[in-house]
Amino acid sequence: MSHSVLDGRAVAETMLAQTRAQVADLKATGWAPRLCSISVGDVSAVQLYVRNQKRTAEKANIQFEELHFLAEIHQEQLLAAIHGMNADPRVTGIILQRPVPAHLSIKQLQGAIHPLKDVEGMHPASIGNIVYNELELGPCTAMASVELLRQTGLSLTGLEVVVVGHSEIVGKPIAFLLMAEGATVTVCHHMTRNLSVHSRRADALFVAVGRAGIINAEMVKPGAAVIDIGINQVTLPDGSTKVVGDVDFASVSNIAGWITPVPGGVGPVTVAVLMRNAVIGATRQKKHYESLFGPAHQAGQ
Ligand code: NAP
Repeated sequence: MSHSVLDGRAVAETMLAQTRAQVADLKATGWAPRLCSISVGDVSAVQLYVRNQKRTAEKANIQFEELHFLAEIHQEQLLAAIHGMNADPRVTGIILQRPVPAHLSIKQLQGAIHPLKDVEGMHPASIGNIVYNELELGPCTAMASVELLRQTGLSLTGLEVVVVGHSEIVGKPIAFLLMAEGATVTVCHHMTRNLSVHSRRADALFVAVGRAGIINAEMVKPGAAVIDIGINQVTLPDGSTKVVGDVDFASVSNIAGWITPVPGGVGPVTVAVLMRNAVIGATRQKKHYESLFGPAHQAGQ
């Protein structure tokens, strides 16, 4: 069967062009989106992501500021820094880079970010909005995965969808986003008895586990759309390393109707969604300030 590779880089470029135009419109009204990225402690794990976010923000004409805190910082000190950013009208979006050192509560920190500045879509209020079918702003990776499924042109109404992995930031929001679109969704996790029985039924299969090769060709329905969210570094026989997804691309691409590559699939679209969320967040803050003070320019612009 011939398959189509869903090119995440091309989808991201189209989205970024739209975002850039929206940023220009927003700036013309005296408001500029500005993202603040918070990283804590050893930044080596997140350095690549932050650099990528910064580069993409520049493409979208969005200001991007990196803040780095020492690993020893107390929860209260970090909460105070977040509250300061919440109160600063020049900061329109806050990104909390993961992981943070073990002594910090990521859940409390994420919850401290004002929902209007929650560009990652991970605040409980943002997740709750999805449950209530308000789908404009959501967790970036989940939104990106659904965006890639849309590229297939498949009708989401009544579509048989299987999501493998049920984390709060990826699997569960994908399931809620697709339920809101009318799909029939099955969610699998490590206690699922027979993964293949479910995965083989799927017209669209989303995989977000973090285990290379967990899905092979025998587990996929011919012609299905396969969205691979996993990122795994594997060591090849010659000792070199390579980044792969959760899906065995070589075998599954012979069976699937559409498939996302890793890298170059969900990853670039995730960052493009972050920039789209940055504009949505800044626009909502503009409206909020105007509802309180009447038409006004953003302070400090
Ligand atoms: P996570 O929090 O570790 O969640 C993994 C999920 O997989 C859990 O729900 C787990 O279920 C489930 N699982 C574990 N073993 C399983 C099995 N044998 N069969 C079925 N499900 C199983 O990870 P995550 O944050 O969701 O990320 C998942 C993957 O996506 C990772 O590789 C990550 O690097 C990648 N990711 C990519 C992007 C991107 O932009 N492309 C963004 C975020 C994450 P239980 O909880 O029941 O164990």
